[in-house]
Amino acid sequence: MPRTVVTGAAGFIGSHLSEALLDLGHSVVGIDNLLTGDMDNIAHLRDRDFAFIRHDVTRYIEVDGPVDFVLHWASPASPIDYLELPIQTLKVGSLGTHNVLGLAKAKHARFVTASTSEVYGDPLEHPQKETYWGNVNPIGPRGVYDEAKRFAEAMTMAYHRYHGVDTKIVRIFNTYGPRMRLRDGRAVPAFMSQALAGEDVTVFGNGTQTRSFCYISDLVDGILRLMVSDTNDPVNIGNPYEVTIEEIARTVIRLVGSKSRIVYKPLPEDDPKQRRPDITRARTLLHWEPKIELEDGLLRTVEYFKGKLKTT
Ligand code: UDP
Repeated sequence: MPRTVVTGAAGFIGSHLSEALLDLGHSVVGIDNLLTGDMDNIAHLRDRDFAFIRHDVTRYIEVDGPVDFVLHWASPASPIDYLELPIQTLKVGSLGTHNVLGLAKAKHARFVTASTSEVYGDPLEHPQKETYWGNVNPIGPRGVYDEAKRFAEAMTMAYHRYHGVDTKIVRIFNTYGPRMRLRDGRAVPAFMSQALAGEDVTVFGNGTQTRSFCYISDLVDGILRLMVSDTNDPVNIGNPYEVTIEEIARTVIRLVGSKSRIVYKPLPEDDPKQRRPDITRARTLLHWEPKIELEDGLLRTVEYFKGKLKTT
């Protein structure tokens, strides 16, 4: 059976991905420096064919033995994290991606990297197709993530074209679900932890900005399909159902059954006004589309947050 390295394995997406690969029969080597990851996310994988290496992938990576797939998921991923960890965010997307590509090349492994809808910046094209080059402010607070991921895509394509590595790029749109950090600052966990605690729910700006939220199991399904596909071009994976942030705040309050009020806070700098993936490429090449309805996914996530609040 295949042996697969997952960087960022203790993170939100990395842990779900590792688990899904184990379910497919892969032997998984998880790497994480635990900067934003959490061992609790992978504690239940201990008795499976899962090895964990605590390591920062911006430094040279050593993995013994054969490797068939390398999935590069290590990176801070919330706007609050970029503000607190700007240099680490830039380093893991650039130096880290270079090292992880080097590992894939040395092992003759297939490489898949986590890119992001942030490569489109504050988009002037809507919905966003993979052919859109984006509207990114390189020197703004989000630039550390956006430009690192754009560099990561460029480096990935260079390894594909120059070294012949079989590479895949997944552009991940807003995703939510269990194992997000309660206070990672992103909209869904922020609104849920506030609503569950009966605190004010903080909508930034006037709440008319939009996002399109994909449930974690749909995302993982898309990534696994891309991993075994023939394409080397970037593919958007996300849910095209677009909502305003005010709407998502109201939905979370209703589903939690909370008495929380909405309060409006200043909009962070360069906050994209709209975001929705065009998933024609994923539909055509991967025969993929999301299945989980927003309210269903939010309810499953609320259950997780309730449990987490009890134990913290
Ligand atoms: N947002 C908000 N209140 C919060 C956290 C986020 O209104 O407590 C807004 C944020 O300004 C953005 C949207 O929700 O417009 C999604 O933010 P998130 O940090 O989840 O991800 P982004 O899509 O901006 O990377």
